[in-house]
Amino acid sequence: MKIVLDRPRCEGHGLCEEAAPQLMHLDDEGELALGREEFEAADAVLAHAAVRVCPVAALRIA
Ligand code: SF4
Repeated sequence: MKIVLDRPRCEGHGLCEEAAPQLMHLDDEGELALGREEFEAADAVLAHAAVRVCPVAALRIA
């Protein structure tokens, strides 16, 4: 499974990083970097939590 970021939609709120810091990181300029775009089943709960908390629906799982 994979996390897909709709970058133009992302507003840098950082809530996704709080939910899944192992999978993503917001840099000093508010740009979100996906540390591991592909994730293992063990991280699925975190990945889904990150998708759910994003207030602008910029993340999805493919
Ligand atoms: S929570 Fe959504 S808007 Fe905020 S940094 Fe993450 S993807 Fe971007």
